[in-house]
Order: sequence, then structure tokens, then C-alpha cells
Amino acid sequence: MDVFDDPLLQVRRHRMQFLEWFGSSVPCDTFVVVSNRKARIDGDVPTNVLRPNSLPFHVRKKEGDVCIDKIALRKRLLESHQPREVDVMKRMKLQPRDIIPGVRCLECGSLKMKRRRTVWHCSCGAFDKKAHLATLRDYKLLFGEQITNRQARWFLQMDDYRAVHHILKTNSLKSEGPNKKKIYFLR
Ligand SMILES: [Zn+2]
Repeated sequence: MDVFDDPLLQVRRHRMQFLEWFGSSVPCDTFVVVSNRKARIDGDVPTNVLRPNSLPFHVRKKEGDVCIDKIALRKRLLESHQPREVDVMKRMKLQPRDIIPGVRCLECGSLKMKRRRTVWHCSCGAFDKKAHLATLRDYKLLFGEQITNRQARWFLQMDDYRAVHHILKTNSLKSEGPNKKKIYFLR
């Protein structure tokens, strides 16, 4: 059994941080949403601790009570958004050799999907035209946006240089360098 830190304290801290960032007295209510269906909540449950399916009703109810410039708030939030960048390899103290390459089958979880023509096939019988997209996303999260044909052949477990070139060309924003040493910048 995992026991978590006090989520009520956490949400109070978030509220404080939000108000400090926003810099004005905007109405700000807090909820703790327990999304894990298996989670057990012991003791008396405070009224702001909710299960996910009741959240929309609470938000709707609160919306009627407050008057706020939602467009300005939305603009402010979007402008301040910074994508979280985590160097997973460094943080988890991993080396490239620790990574098991391959395209994952969504049906059985195997990393051994094989590409035939333009479709990925798994030994479990599943097939998927777009299975490589999730694999390229994983690559980007692990190693960053730059990838060469050789690295992609390793990560996708493909031998076909031209097919990999086609995949990279369609899924990158740009590429730099001469043919064999070309670096693609993943989307
Ligand atoms: Zn499978």
C-alpha cells in the first residue's frame, strides 16, 4: 500500500503559488481529485476531495458564483506556459545501452513489431500503420529531437535505409547535413 503526502496541503500550496503568479485577488477554489479508482480515502472526507466524475458538477456550480475575465486568464495562462523538459536519460542515470529499442504493439506490448511495406505487424496478429509515431515520440523524449538515419534504424529496428529516410522525412520539421550524415529534427 502506498501512502501519499497530504494532498490538501499540496493543493493549498498550489493555490498560493497560483495567486502569487497571477498577482491579483482572483477567486480561486481548490479541489483534490482522486483519479485512481482503487485509491482508498481513510477518515472523514473533506468536501473538496472529489472523485473525477463529480468534478464537472462542482466546477459548473462554482462558475455561476464568480465573475472573471476568462479570456484574459486563458491568454495569460497560455503565454506563461512552458513545456516541461526533462532529460530522462540523465535523471534516471541511463545509458543508451539500457534502452530496449523496437516498435511497440499496442495489443500485446511486444517491442518486436516488423514493418512490411507500410504497415507494422506483430506476431500476436495485430497490425498498425502508425505504430512508429509513438516510437519516434519516445525517442524524442529520451534523446532529444535530433536523429540520424542510423539511430532511427536502431530505434525502430529496421534495416531499410530508404524506408527509414521516408519515415524521418515525413515526421521531421527540417533536416540538416549531407545524405548519409543527415540529421533530422523530429516534430
Ligand atoms: Zn502484439
